[in-house]
Amino acid sequence: MRKLLSLTLLALLMLPAPAASADPARSRFSSLFCPECWTYLYGHGATDLKGNCAACGKYPLELEVQTMSWYWSPQNHLWLQDPMKGTLPAESLAAVTRPGPGLSRAHYCPEHRNFKGVRLPLLQRMVCAEDGKPMVLAWASHRTWFWCEWDGGWSLTRSPEDPIKHCCTPRTGLLLATPQRGPMAGD
Ligand SMILES: [Zn+2]
Ligand SMILES: [Zn+2]
Ligand SMILES: [Zn+2]
Repeated sequence: MRKLLSLTLLALLMLPAPAASADPARSRFSSLFCPECWTYLYGHGATDLKGNCAACGKYPLELEVQTMSWYWSPQNHLWLQDPMKGTLPAESLAAVTRPGPGLSRAHYCPEHRNFKGVRLPLLQRMVCAEDGKPMVLAWASHRTWFWCEWDGGWSLTRSPEDPIKHCCTPRTGLLLATPQRGPMAGD
């Protein structure tokens, strides 16, 4: 428990300064995202001296995000949307996303920041595959980016040379999302 707690605190410290989560007009900011590692890059050592992902060496994308918070209640063994006495906060980055067919509701673990869950056979409830905590329902955006070996960059489509050179490799997955209308950055 203590280890989990300190990991959560560490993760919180590494996040950019969060905007007030209760505010519906939470401020947007941009964050680096590595499609190869499927993770946001923040904190010391996440990028190398060239600004590339320290883990895979590829240059990251810049996504427009907002912070989202959930609060773990040990008493109720549940994630709550609002802080209460004795709850522990967990923050995630959510990609600002246009409403559309790529958006869906998905089960999400605010602590591990992923969608990896298992369904409990009797209760028909989704729990985190790592720690068995019940998951929350959140907006998820199904995204794909192609890494082009030839161009050395990410793009939303395969390059015209791909049928001959076989240079483009897709990375696909779910991103926590916050649907919004209006101009987007980083698409
Ligand atoms: Zn990476
Ligand atoms: Zn979890
Ligand atoms: Zn290519």
